[in-house]
Formats: sequence, C-alpha cells, structure tokens
Amino acid sequence: MTRPFLLALFALAVSSSATAAPKPQGANPVAKPGINPAAAANAALIKPKYVLPIQFVRTADDDGGRASTLTQANAEAAIARANAVYARKGGDVAFSLHPASNFDAVIESTKLNRDCILAAGQTDATINANSDGDLDNNGTVGDDADRDKLCDYTTSTNARTAYAVARADRIIVFSRGGNDAVAWDADAGHWAASHPSGGASSADGFYVRMPKSFGNDTLLAHEVGHYLHTAHTFGPNPADVSEAKALMEQWVKDHPGDDPAKVFDGDSRVKYQVLDTPPDPRATLLIAAKGGDGCDPDPAYGRITIPVKVGNTTKNVTLEPDRALVMSYFKGCAGFDHYQSKGQYEQIHKALESGNRRGLVEGDPGSCYDNGYDPGTVVTTEQQLAALLRKISKCLILSKRVMPWEPVELDIYAPVEQVGRGFQSQGGIAVHPQRELQLMRTLRRAEAEE
Ligand SMILES: [Zn+2]
Repeated sequence: MTRPFLLALFALAVSSSATAAPKPQGANPVAKPGINPAAAANAALIKPKYVLPIQFVRTADDDGGRASTLTQANAEAAIARANAVYARKGGDVAFSLHPASNFDAVIESTKLNRDCILAAGQTDATINANSDGDLDNNGTVGDDADRDKLCDYTTSTNARTAYAVARADRIIVFSRGGNDAVAWDADAGHWAASHPSGGASSADGFYVRMPKSFGNDTLLAHEVGHYLHTAHTFGPNPADVSEAKALMEQWVKDHPGDDPAKVFDGDSRVKYQVLDTPPDPRATLLIAAKGGDGCDPDPAYGRITIPVKVGNTTKNVTLEPDRALVMSYFKGCAGFDHYQSKGQYEQIHKALESGNRRGLVEGDPGSCYDNGYDPGTVVTTEQQLAALLRKISKCLILSKRVMPWEPVELDIYAPVEQVGRGFQSQGGIAVHPQRELQLMRTLRRAEAEE
C-alpha cells in the first residue's frame, strides 16, 4: 500500500474560501478592525487563532463491502466550506487536512464501519415486525440494552472511540457506509430499522461520523460544531401553527413569566449553553404556514407571528429563526452565509482551551498519540478501552500534560505517587477505576446529535 504523505492543506483551503469573498488585490492583508469594518468582516483577511487538523478515516466492512467512497478532492471541498463557515463574523477557527488521512485505501473492519452490528438473522423486515420492546426482560421497554439485542451499538462505539482517543490530537472523521440504525418506536409499538443519510457527533464523544461520501456542503461544518460543543439551535419540531402555539402555551404554563418562544431555543438549555441564538421553530412550521421549502431568503418569509395565550391575555409572539446559523437545520439552505455566533464561539474556545478538545491545540511533544492510520487490533471491549486510556494517560502524565478527556485535571489518572483514596496503582500510574468506568460510559453514551 502506498500512502503519500499529504501536505497540510490549510493554505489551499483558505484560498478556496477566499474565492467566495474576493480579496482586493494589493490590500493590506492584515485587517484593522475599527478602521475598515468591511475588511475586518472579510473572513479571508483574518488569520485564524486555532487551526484544527482533521483526519478522515474511510472504512468498509470486513469483506470490503459498503465502503466509503470519499475522495481527497471532496474531503478538501468539505474542509474549505467549513473554513468559510468558521471564518465568518469574527470566527477564528480553521481546519486542515491531517497527513494520516488515507484516500488510497479503506480500513476493512465491520466493527468500525457499522453504526451497529445486526444480530444473526436480523434484517430491516424482522426488526420492523418486532413488537417486543423489552428484549432483555428487565421491565424497561426500548432501552439501549434491548436495542443492542437487535443491533449491537456497543462494539462499534468502543471501536470508533478507541481509534479516536488514541489520536486525540486531531479530529477523527469517519466516512462510513455502514449507516444502520435501530430504535424503539413507542407510538407504533414496534422496533424500527433505518439508514440515516446524515452525520453525527457529540460534545463528549471523540469522533465525528459522516456518510460514505460528502463534499462542498455544510454537513462537516455542522458535525464538527457538535464535536466542538455547539448544540442544535432548535427544540421541538412543530408540524404547523396550531402545534407551535400549543407548545408555547405549555411552555409558559410550565415556566411562568418566561418568553413563550423559549420552548424553541434548544441551545439555551443544554450542558454547553448558548444564549445569543434566537428561538428556532425549524423549517416544518415555515413550510406549513408559508409554503416553499423553508429556505426562501426573504426575511418576511422567515418570520411568523403567532398569538399565544399567556394567563388571561393573548401575546403576539414573533418567531424568526436565524437561518444562517450552521447549527440549525437550515444548514442546507442556499442563499445564507452560514456561521457560528459569538456565544457559540465562547463554548468552542472553552472546549479547546480547557475542555476535552485540548489535545487539538496543545500538540503532542511526547508522541503519546498514535500517528498511524491502521487500527491494528480493533478495540471492542471495555477492558481493552481502559488499557488504551491508561497507556495514553501514562505517557501524557510523564510529559506533564493533561488528559484531554478529563473534565478536571488529574481526577481519573494521576502520577503513581497519588495512589490513595479511590486510586489504585496500575502499570505505573494511579488510576481511579470508578471514575474510569464513568468516563467510558460517557464516551460511549455521548449523545450523538445528527
Ligand atoms: Zn446536528
């Protein structure tokens, strides 16, 4: 297998994004905010503070089936698009192509390629016909353990997590063909198999999942946004005006004195709060009320006023989602220059400076991370994942670095001198096994946002 080392393509990506907003020839390349606001706002002129490497990992099943078809050109187009998004409105983040990205071969591993691995004899048809929600007979219907009996998510999540944490100095983006999903449909009273066409990622997990092919669209920018701790801008998805009205009326009943529109302000009430994005009732409401596809850039089309009963009075509530936010589901609308808000950057900066994304900007002086593409033996069990976390931790501790996945410095893995209260000596470091289990649970159950 030949694997040409690819040059980091940040420079190329920036020049591509600059074609969208032409840079005046001969202009001073350094923006002077306050002197020329137009130039200051020109994304192409501002040097990003953070350049985050992305390693694309193309996978296929063990037999080579259901393979990623992502090309280098398409990966570069996706990075260029993300760079345009993250440079707008004062954005200071850019992405580069990590040299371990391999576009000549795929990793043949069903465990890495499938979102879940179907149990023997299961097909979409058998799953959709199965109305037994409590498959492990523990009294709870439709939980993760039940779901894993039909399609095992745990093995794949362990495998992908291990691959990614071993390379936590870059963003691992899987391009995979194994887009299977199984969920309990409580309304219908049976299980449902599906094949999501989009991507997914999360703030607490360590990888981004993308389709087998993608390119010059905002999907990568959106999924990396989840990875960098920015949540969806929206809450519930009302089908029409009457449902939107009912949701708002219920919200003020449950939250007296609150703005009724807040029910639609999803990112104001998550772990990593964003308070400067407006309530987002999503496209379905606009389509139901005004026709079209939700994307008409006319501001009047994107604005809807609904009379809402608050106590004994009626209040006209105007909803006007910011359809240019890349963390909205208007991310696919042409005619908007998608971006992240100031409040969203506050979360992104925290993630990079003191959160679980520190590894992306701290560098790796001691080669604590694996620079290779080949996964070797694919990690599938909790014990193997723990061994890997301990190995990386020992290396980081010896080079006096902080474990990127730890919310608080040295509270899971520590220098061996720290053995005591809850810690045990394990292979030359102090390990707090109880917190380690919690960490693995967090990594595995990180709520994936599509
Ligand atoms: Zn999303």
